[in-house]
Amino acid sequence: MAVSNIIGQEIEKEADPLLELSRKLWLCPETKYEEIFAHDALTEFLERNGFTVSRRYKLDTAFRAVYKQGQGSPHVVVICEYDALPEIGHACGHNLIAEVGVAAGLGLKAALLANPAVSGTVTVLGTPAEENGGGGKVKLIDAGALHGADVAMMAHPDAQNMMAPGVMANTTGSAVYTGRAAHAAAAPWEGVNALDAAVAAYTSMSMLRQQTKPDCRMHAVITEGGVKPNIIPERSALAFTVRATSDRDLAPLKDKVTAIMKSAAVSTGCELNLEYSCPDGHVSHYANLIHNTELLTRYQMHWSGFGPQYGDIVPDRVWASTDMGNISQVVPSIHPTFRISASDVNIHSREFTTAAMEPQAHAAARCAAKAIASVGWDVLTDEDFLRKVKESFQAQRAENAY
Ligand SMILES: [Zn+2]
Ligand SMILES: [Zn+2]
Repeated sequence: MAVSNIIGQEIEKEADPLLELSRKLWLCPETKYEEIFAHDALTEFLERNGFTVSRRYKLDTAFRAVYKQGQGSPHVVVICEYDALPEIGHACGHNLIAEVGVAAGLGLKAALLANPAVSGTVTVLGTPAEENGGGGKVKLIDAGALHGADVAMMAHPDAQNMMAPGVMANTTGSAVYTGRAAHAAAAPWEGVNALDAAVAAYTSMSMLRQQTKPDCRMHAVITEGGVKPNIIPERSALAFTVRATSDRDLAPLKDKVTAIMKSAAVSTGCELNLEYSCPDGHVSHYANLIHNTELLTRYQMHWSGFGPQYGDIVPDRVWASTDMGNISQVVPSIHPTFRISASDVNIHSREFTTAAMEPQAHAAARCAAKAIASVGWDVLTDEDFLRKVKESFQAQRAENAY
């Protein structure tokens, strides 16, 4: 039997248990670094299906599940995400990403079992805390979790099927302005208005937008802006994110935003405490995603073979940021999106949360898993292909460097 049929049949055979697993995650949304239930459900499922599981692998809610045959090389890593958003649950559909990762692992394992002469390792890597600057993958890279991986692949649910969505480099920061309180009517000239500094910074960022490249993004919120109108605010705070399609474009944009934050302090006479880091100690920089061209061409070929009924492939557009970008800088990677609903709902909306549990979303997820497993099989069995993957990785990384 052709390997694509083995992979396809295995994943369809497991459709119900995979759906049940995904439903469990969806019903119990957990936010960054608190994915205890998801960690336990996924590791239990993979262990039951013959993987060697390392629970709490380097991080409390990360895991590694390995299936190895022969001397174990090459090494294909498929990525699971499973964190949710505060308030709106699985509005990014990470329950489906987990389903794709587990299903792709099962498909590759079945292909290996049917071909005992083939050597290779498939690792399902559970990476927590993608949302809201958690940077679980960045921490896992630093801890060596990707050592020895030849490729890393995942697929993300979305409103559209995109092969290489524009995943931007981003950095997050905070600016705290300190002024001086005074009575706003009796002696306002004695005050130093920290809210004015925050407003000046916010509006200067808005003006800067016109002078940036079309695919750059900046957004800010004023998180503190004073207490009462009759007190000149002595403290204000902004939280902001700056994004560009590459680290090369991000660096000068970040410099301009830094200048804006400083000038708002100078013009109002406030003190400024500017930090590029997340206040809760998570990761402040997500790299742009380098979609490996060789892997992507194969993925598209396999996707088209398995899933013409899951909608057209649309042109790539600017999309979001993810710590998968950081993995793509150290291992050849892909991160295509797959369409989960005919109603074109976008991620991070309550409508997407609902769509992420509909039957067609799971069918599309299984299709993505089959395509990923098939690319994985090509990596394990086609030396020439893997060499090309590695060559294009080096070339694309050199192009991205600054
Ligand atoms: Zn998200
Ligand atoms: Zn997401």
